Amino acid sequence: MSQPENLGKIWRRYKLSKRTLRKTMDYVKKEYKRTRIMPASWYLSSYNFKFNIAHMKPFLEKLKQKKLVGLQCSSCNRVFFPPRQVCGKCLVKPDRWVDLRETGRVASYTITYLKDPESGEVLERPIICAQLDGADTSYPATLSPDVEFKDTYIGMPIKVHWAEDISGGMMDIEYYDLTEDDAKDLELRKE
Ligand SMILES: [Zn+2]
Repeated sequence: MSQPENLGKIWRRYKLSKRTLRKTMDYVKKEYKRTRIMPASWYLSSYNFKFNIAHMKPFLEKLKQKKLVGLQCSSCNRVFFPPRQVCGKCLVKPDRWVDLRETGRVASYTITYLKDPESGEVLERPIICAQLDGADTSYPATLSPDVEFKDTYIGMPIKVHWAEDISGGMMDIEYYDLTEDDAKDLELRKE
């Protein structure tokens, strides 16, 4: 078995900058010496998992005030909305909050089939990946009930529709409204 590589060597292999290096958490795989093997059964369903959302706190506080913030990685400058605990590219903790607007675009979308519990009618509803202006990531969200699947397209301009009761959670953004796309009416100049 080879000796664990020293970290400096690993950083060089991953081509991380000095700045990233300082902030990087210990996520890069190290090689461990194998000692012995113990066969056993693991009952994963009996485990309790703890999910730390401490990094979400300022974000949720802002939601309560109907304000949107993203978390920026100070190494690659990508802005995460919703905030992420670790930047997957640089392996550092994003640590800069930035204001975001309520507007954005449909980054991707797909169809869902919802059965109306009363009439039994199956409704075709679009589900979207919403990317807010100023954010580099998108997340699954719903569109206004007024917008049909056939009218949805990638790049469609959207705006946050706040829920009536604000509780400081992701559900505060009830859905996204379609905003006017004024440029749509412009005709291409014909020579
Ligand atoms: Zn990064």
